[in-house]
Amino acid sequence: MAADKKFTKQGDLMNARTASCYAAIMIIGLGQNDSNSLYSAVKALRGLGESTLKMGLNEVSSSQLADEIELLAMEKDVLNLKPSNPSEYGEKAKRLQELSMRFRSQTAGKILIIPELFWKQTIAGESKALPLAAMAEEALGESLILDNPKAAAEHYQSARLWWMQAGRQDMAQTASSFVQSYGRAAKCWFCGREVSGENIHFVTMSSDLTNLIRRSADESALPSYDQSGSGVYACKGCYGAIYKQADSLALQRTKELEVRIDTQLDEIRQQLSAIQSTLRQMNR
Ligand SMILES: [Zn+2]
Repeated sequence: MAADKKFTKQGDLMNARTASCYAAIMIIGLGQNDSNSLYSAVKALRGLGESTLKMGLNEVSSSQLADEIELLAMEKDVLNLKPSNPSEYGEKAKRLQELSMRFRSQTAGKILIIPELFWKQTIAGESKALPLAAMAEEALGESLILDNPKAAAEHYQSARLWWMQAGRQDMAQTASSFVQSYGRAAKCWFCGREVSGENIHFVTMSSDLTNLIRRSADESALPSYDQSGSGVYACKGCYGAIYKQADSLALQRTKELEVRIDTQLDEIRQQLSAIQSTLRQMNR
């Protein structure tokens, strides 16, 4: 094959690859920015090797663009994870941490191309790293809450600091409320166990407390009732036992009631049919 023909063929191939890159990127711009579309664009860009693409008014390197889109795809994937147990939370935390570090190392000092091109959003690469680091700490907190609520509270404290750095006061506030509730310790009103982790390891059960009863509980270093005095603290063990006992009693009462209602209904039916037969006899 003549050299020029070969080059033409190679040129055609490059043109075709470049066109498929633009197509894959345009699909993202058209709103299909699910991770599959993003990964397709990454694959197309990687196939181009090291090349330069025109993106709006700018020229960008294909490999830089591939790196950025890959990070955005990974971000979507990790944010979609819905962990349901400690080890899944631990796994999510690890992936969030790794991604945060990758944003920091690969996009620091750069403005992300895709958000700017399609959504007119000026996002500095490193600003992506901060929320991911915060979420990693929160996921770590959740992975530890069943075994070690104090450590979980400490991770939420780190998350709070990351959110503050990211300028997300609202998220910092939410993290702060977890620091408080996970770090809060109480003494069970019923069994006297001392536990940390409000709403996880102990809960508030509504009750009526007289001043005398409150004073008798005030000798303990940890509170056993909430300050409004409308409820007492119960460890999850006591709460669970009380709840299940109450539930089974309620079920039993309902069944007894059903039997009584059924009996009464039978009596009413019999009376009704007696009245009907009397009426029929009268009408003859
Ligand atoms: Zn208890």
